[in-house]
Amino acid sequence: MKVLVINAGSSSIKFELYAMPQEQVLASGLVERIGESTSRLVWRDARDGRHTLERPIQDHAAGLELVLSLLCSGTDAPMESLDEIGAVGHRVVHGGEAFSQTVGVTAEVEAAIQAHAVLAPLHNPPNLLGIRVARQVLPDVPQVAVFDTAFHQTLPPHAYLYALPAELYREHRVRRYGFHGISHRFVAGRAAALLGRPLEQLRLISCHLGNGASICAIEAGRSVDTSMGMTPLEGLVMGTRCGDLDPAIPLYLQRQLGMDAAEVDRLLNKRSGMLGLSGRSNDLRELEQAAESGDADAAVAMQVYCYRIRKYIGAYTAALGSVDALVFTAGVGENSDVVRAAVLEGLAPMGYALDLDANRGLRGREADISAVDSRARVLVIPTDEELLIARDTYALAGHRAS
Ligand code: ADP
Repeated sequence: MKVLVINAGSSSIKFELYAMPQEQVLASGLVERIGESTSRLVWRDARDGRHTLERPIQDHAAGLELVLSLLCSGTDAPMESLDEIGAVGHRVVHGGEAFSQTVGVTAEVEAAIQAHAVLAPLHNPPNLLGIRVARQVLPDVPQVAVFDTAFHQTLPPHAYLYALPAELYREHRVRRYGFHGISHRFVAGRAAALLGRPLEQLRLISCHLGNGASICAIEAGRSVDTSMGMTPLEGLVMGTRCGDLDPAIPLYLQRQLGMDAAEVDRLLNKRSGMLGLSGRSNDLRELEQAAESGDADAAVAMQVYCYRIRKYIGAYTAALGSVDALVFTAGVGENSDVVRAAVLEGLAPMGYALDLDANRGLRGREADISAVDSRARVLVIPTDEELLIARDTYALAGHRAS
């Protein structure tokens, strides 16, 4: 059966079509700039041929219809008809405490996704729109929701509670939720496969370093702590987000600098992180090169970035007691030997010793880059969130379709 995976953003739809259970990608692509005159659809077919179609795409429904018509047209089309799609899997960012696993979409599930939009105002509404549009276009096909927060619902209270008045949690659900759960779960599974050991016996630290970044302590396949909080702003230094901060700073910005809440929000989410520190870019590639060519601000930004990751590795090593493997994933983690080496420099006594030759130049493929005498394995594992969504969707809806 075919599974369509959808990640709907405010003006975009990312999609991937899988043949399951073979896990073969038949097509993947992106509709972007929906609602603008310059919208377009870019996609790849199963033979990695790339295509672009530029034309105004009025709304998400028109975007999805265009994708579906392409998937069924032409001699090389991956499907003859839409009837071959057995289920649609949706990435949904925030499921709060309501969802600790993947679920089939019902009216109650939709209402809960809507209710959690206050916690993820930029993500949940478009995710929900994606679900509604898919149901409209494929009315008889089961829809499945896979949450970014679900994996972290195993956090114990001492890891998810903030030291605030207890009623803020009890009455308003102010707590740590964590994100990137789909990615952390995926790489944890791959780490177990690479190590040839059951996940249930492993203690892992997963570093998802992309534009957004988070780190996760995983014990026996369960998330026990993670760096993102009630929102994705907490934790590591990110492309444009500040990560951990003295909570008095936003108040200072408001009182002393006269900023309003919306301005502070924008500053912390869009103008901080690597972009803010370097005054130059949120792109790690560019900053690595700039630092190398003598840009002092870029060099300091790289140091702050790597130091924050190091501190979290130390904290989560303590949280877990001992660690079997540390995993680097996502754009920076998979590709930047410079960041991996800087983060782990001098950490051999803690159990993380890098094989510098194995690390050097390694990009975008699975590898063990630890020195032979490293107590913990250090792994690079490309993440594949879409594949995990396809697997979950197939596991939940596959029997209904067959
Ligand atoms: P997103 O969170 O948007 O999915 P990605 O996981 O694609 O982000 O990661 C994007 C980041 O990865 C960017 O900062 C980019 O500069 C960085 N990156 C990609 N390739 C490299 C590379 N070869 N060296 C350093 N950083 C890289």
